[in-house]
Amino acid sequence: MTQRELFLKNVAQTSDFPLALEIERAEGLYLYGKNGKPYMDLISGIGVSNVGHRHPKVVEAIKNQVDKYLHLMVYGEYVQTPQVQLAAALAETLKASAGERAPLDNVYFTNSGTEAIEGAMKLAKRYTNKPEIISCYNAYHGATQGALSLSGSENFKRNFRPLLPMMRNIRHGNFDDITHITTQTAAVIIEVIAGEAGVRVPDKAYFKALRARCDETGTLLVFDEIQSGFGRTGTFWAFEQFGAYPDILTTAKGMGGGMPIGAFIANHEVMGVFKNNPILGHITTFGGHPVSAAASLATLQVIQSEKLYEYVTPKADLIKSLLVHPIIREVRNQGLMMAVEFENFDVLKPVIDRAIEKGVITDWFLFCDNSMRIAPPLIISDEEIRKACQILLESIDAL
Ligand code: PMP
Repeated sequence: MTQRELFLKNVAQTSDFPLALEIERAEGLYLYGKNGKPYMDLISGIGVSNVGHRHPKVVEAIKNQVDKYLHLMVYGEYVQTPQVQLAAALAETLKASAGERAPLDNVYFTNSGTEAIEGAMKLAKRYTNKPEIISCYNAYHGATQGALSLSGSENFKRNFRPLLPMMRNIRHGNFDDITHITTQTAAVIIEVIAGEAGVRVPDKAYFKALRARCDETGTLLVFDEIQSGFGRTGTFWAFEQFGAYPDILTTAKGMGGGMPIGAFIANHEVMGVFKNNPILGHITTFGGHPVSAAASLATLQVIQSEKLYEYVTPKADLIKSLLVHPIIREVRNQGLMMAVEFENFDVLKPVIDRAIEKGVITDWFLFCDNSMRIAPPLIISDEEIRKACQILLESIDAL
């Protein structure tokens, strides 16, 4: 049997049409298929490889940690340097924007984005002692049952009921819907930029209004920056551009530089409730694995020392200036989190397929299938941008 046949037979599939590309190695912007065929990865493995594939500093950190120790003990018991340093570095990224609020300086490490969301949901309920959680229509927060309960997509939820009760949806960016938040609401969990809805950027004043309402009602404001964090939008965290500070922040994806790790981050007082009633209020075996934590710290340092987020806006502007075509309806973006809108999926899908044949990987969105996902590694060069956009335009013209 070929690798492909074994893949289809033994690796669980989530659709009848997996891409099934056979990739032999990856470096920077590129994935290399059989016979060395290069593919430009314009989606960073869905928002993960912000520093590029196998960044040398990340690989070095992984190798160094592998030589020291792997798993030692369940979460939270031993002092593990990679976790400690990463938590301190994350806290540092969150200090300056705190203003009058207690800075988010207490980090709970997980293995994935959806686990970060699960932790944030439990923490908000436990801290506020309130039952209801509000999220947005067309939000994506993960696939486990708590995170799925937050989803505004009936299509995704229907056949998995019963899910969690007392979940409500509001419209992302809609000022009127803010009044649905009441004193019964434990948390509002919201993506700063609505990713899977097709990159929807709210009005600058929206998060300030949301923040004010949450303060009025005693509700925790949770920003999901699992897709928008780690430099993707032009600042280290996307929320920095909206003048509102969260009570809990979730991160994953780009955080690990290609290794699995996530976190939910709160201040000391809020996170402290996990310590009693019951003790061990939230536990994990592998959360913040030392190798992933070392990779994540190196990723964070690369983004900061190479000031990768400073190049994000000019690079996004270059892409926008190049992707001009009569059948492109609109390009929405916050930094290098981008969506290129076409009339419908039937127009978009052949463009994506053709571009992959020509060596450029893009995708669409879970809740927006008329738009092309573009979220390249932040290290993409201007020359690579020109080449990739040229191939995308050729793929459109080949329709
Ligand atoms: N939140 C957001 C905003 C996401 O984009 C994703 C993943 N697409 C998740 C949560 C879930 O992350 P994971 O797949 O690591 O569970």
